[in-house]
Amino acid sequence: MNYSFTEEQLAIKQNFANFCQKEIAPRAPILDRASEEEVRKLIKENIKLLASIGFLGMAHEEEYGGTNLDLITQSIAGEEVAKACASSFLSAGASYGLFGFPVRLFGTKEQKEKYLPGIISGDIIGAFCLTEPEAGSDAAAIKTTAVKDGASWIINGTKTFITNGPIADVYLVMAYTDKSAGPAAGVTAFLVERNNPGVKVGKSFDKCGFRGSPTSEVFFDDCKVTQNAVLGEVGKGFIQAMQTLEFGRIGMATVALGIAQACLEEANKYAKERKAFGKPINRFQEVSFKLADMMIMTDISRLLIYRAAYAKQIGDPEASVYASCAKLFASESATQIASMAVQIFGGYGYMKDYTVERLYRDAKLCEIGEGTSEIQRILIAKSILAKYAK
Ligand SMILES: Cc1cc2nc3c(=O)[nH]c(=O)nc-3n(C[C@H](O)[C@H](O)[C@H](O)COP(=O)(O)OP(=O)(O)OC[C@H]3O[C@@H](n4cnc5c(N)ncnc54)[C@H](O)[C@@H]3O)c2cc1C
Repeated sequence: MNYSFTEEQLAIKQNFANFCQKEIAPRAPILDRASEEEVRKLIKENIKLLASIGFLGMAHEEEYGGTNLDLITQSIAGEEVAKACASSFLSAGASYGLFGFPVRLFGTKEQKEKYLPGIISGDIIGAFCLTEPEAGSDAAAIKTTAVKDGASWIINGTKTFITNGPIADVYLVMAYTDKSAGPAAGVTAFLVERNNPGVKVGKSFDKCGFRGSPTSEVFFDDCKVTQNAVLGEVGKGFIQAMQTLEFGRIGMATVALGIAQACLEEANKYAKERKAFGKPINRFQEVSFKLADMMIMTDISRLLIYRAAYAKQIGDPEASVYASCAKLFASESATQIASMAVQIFGGYGYMKDYTVERLYRDAKLCEIGEGTSEIQRILIAKSILAKYAK
């Protein structure tokens, strides 16, 4: 087993670290406090900035403008993006990943040619629409339907908590086309453009964290699309969505890792400078042990992410459970690490002028999005039970 990065990975890490600290990190607190309207403008600019260093194309093929890099390299770059601004990672990731991956994996050549170059350049923003007001963890309970009408389909339903809902140009929408066939054969994914008269977008939600990444409801009201809007094949949408979420879990784990690493660096720096009882607070064992725990948890998260990324890359059948392990551990660790960082900052950590305050609010989402911690534990437990059943 080789634990070292390649020359290329080292160069990418350095390049992303330099760019993100210079161009993205200074915008993160501004985004966090911006109005709904300003957020829409600023996050689109950040997506374009990330496109300019190739972040949106790493997961995509050269013929559409991508660089087709492996998943570990994507995670290395992603950590630097998330460390600088978790909201920017989330919105960029929803576009090139949650929307872009399924188009890459299941789309027709025409669909890839239509959407992927724009997704990679940041000129088109995508969103992934699975969750509904009464169907989150229980994704099979979605009520959105698509009914065949001659050569077209008519979509009706409401999607909620959609990352990029307010700014997306195109939505990937999961809808039942045959309820009696159940989710595995009865759900179809549709590529629906925002300018379709049947699409309405709700107001941005007023969130606790990730305030720079706009989230909203998206309504489909007798929304008429052609057969060309079907992603891949009719009836495959649920499986496509679940496969997409496996990549998404590695992505969400990477966001959590970036938040954790930022907390560790902020807290370490502060603990060196802040004095109490005549000495720097990092000389107190209670503080230095927190830093030690933060480092170990961050490192384990990183290793679990690389294992999941590698397994997914080579098609290992364990990849799915590894992705759940990485997502679960990295997200729960990020929440704890952010809490420890705030504690090390004392009263200042509770003030909006300090980065750890934002990181603390951002961290919690990682335990909820892309499948909650409870759902990850269920998936991991199922895999263990099956493995040791004999
Ligand atoms: C900021 C944000 C961005 C998001 N972006 C997107 C997006 O782009 N696209 C998209 O489709 N969705 C998105 N989501 C939705 C997200 O994936 C869901 O919120 C998540 O899957 C949980 O669903 P829910 O909120 O309906 O909670 P519920 O499913 O109602 O769960 C509530 C609680 O019950 C627990 N629970 C549920 N079922 C079980 C069970 N079987 N066993 C044990 N516990 C259980 C859950 O773990 C949780 O603690 C986003 C959410 C947020 C907050």
